[in-house]
Amino acid sequence: MIDNLRQIFKFLDGASNIQSIMNVLEEVFPLNAVYIYDPTTESLRDFSKSWMLIKSKELNNVFQNLENKKYIVEGNFSYYALSNNGQIIGMLEFTDKLHSRLLEFLELSIFCISLKIQNIILNERMQKNIDFHDSMKNIAKIIETQYEINYIIPIIGEMIDKFVSDHLVYIFIDNKLVWPSACKDEKIYELIKCLNNDSEYILTPDKKIGLFPLISEHKLLGCIVTKSTDSFLSEKEIEYLEQLSKQAATTINRANVYAEILKHATLDALTGFYNRRQLEERIKQEVSAAKRQKRNLCSVMIDIDFFKNINDNYGHAAGDLVLKTVSRVIKLQLRDYDIAGRYGGEEFVILLPFTKLEEASMVAERLRKTVEKTKIDISKINPDSHIKNISVTISLGVHQYKQEENEEEFIENADKALYEAKNSGRNKAVTKE
Ligand code: GH3
Ligand code: MG
Ligand code: MG
Repeated sequence: MIDNLRQIFKFLDGASNIQSIMNVLEEVFPLNAVYIYDPTTESLRDFSKSWMLIKSKELNNVFQNLENKKYIVEGNFSYYALSNNGQIIGMLEFTDKLHSRLLEFLELSIFCISLKIQNIILNERMQKNIDFHDSMKNIAKIIETQYEINYIIPIIGEMIDKFVSDHLVYIFIDNKLVWPSACKDEKIYELIKCLNNDSEYILTPDKKIGLFPLISEHKLLGCIVTKSTDSFLSEKEIEYLEQLSKQAATTINRANVYAEILKHATLDALTGFYNRRQLEERIKQEVSAAKRQKRNLCSVMIDIDFFKNINDNYGHAAGDLVLKTVSRVIKLQLRDYDIAGRYGGEEFVILLPFTKLEEASMVAERLRKTVEKTKIDISKINPDSHIKNISVTISLGVHQYKQEENEEEFIENADKALYEAKNSGRNKAVTKE
């Protein structure tokens, strides 16, 4: 028996996680489960599945009765108390009544077993603390280096997920789920509506769902949601999530501001095409790539026909809507790597990389036809107008880059083709070598 004791102490000493403790105990005892009392939630948990709350009334009764008796037999199972300084901290569950030798053995080793189990729990908590500080450090790093929201969100999501691993984690921005890809819980969507710019975190009465608002500069950007079916957030986890959501909000706000600045600097607000400055930048890049790599490149210059009439007849706002619609129709016809820019008022330039003249003139013809067919509903913008739908046509000039050309000549030649299209009747695509 002494030898056996020595053996078990030695094995316990070497055990460094929950699983190895369970293995050692199972070697010696008909062990079925280990339950640990969690004072923050005032409930029993399954030691091997630390997230699992034990709701069984019988087990909770047994646990209470163990305060007076060290060992209880209950139906087919028997239970032995785990304690620390006279205070009961949990219990071992055996599949059988223990015979006297084993009970004696347990009597001698229980102190060591209790201690080891507490050590493991403490270690896990410490590891969680370390993980938390790592997470905070990581978020700080992202704040300094990342501005791309699509990159930031999954990193934050995964960090929190690791952290409250027994909960599902969702991130919402502007009331829309952005991480992960699905959330079917209607209750969460309802709760999100309750958040405002001054909200603190919200816990449902059963503490199973937690909403942590993402607020930066007094503005609600979204929220982090945690949800569990059988466990609830501890005080510590709530504190962590509060801090994390503050950090995350700063990061997301910064990314939003950056995206906005970038958009204003490069895109035309009305059409969403590149603005003139950015377009010129792109023309430079594409011409230089075409020259260097002897790639095909075409330009298409587009101008809306009799656009002034639209403004004059239906008002400037209707004119804006036409510009918006035409640009959207054009964009839908292009490939991802084609480049569309607003050259001037109602003039657009399209760059078609890797494209020969014949292909480009086919694209131009397709654009012309699609715009011609498009009906634009101006009734909302101009309720007084007796005409509901209007349509416009475009003229296009198409040109293929030639090796000796510079950027200006490349665009000028497309413009010359457009001039010809205008002069020969409009609603046409003219191609110029
Ligand atoms: P053409 O067939 O010869 O191209 O005739 P046009 O009337 O389209 O020609 P023109 O270039 O003389 O007219 C362009 C008009 O576009 C003049 C200007 O007031 C209008 N315009 C320019 N930018 C905008 C804008 O952002 N919104 C609106 N609504 N109108 C604009
Ligand atoms: Mg015009
Ligand atoms: Mg014009």
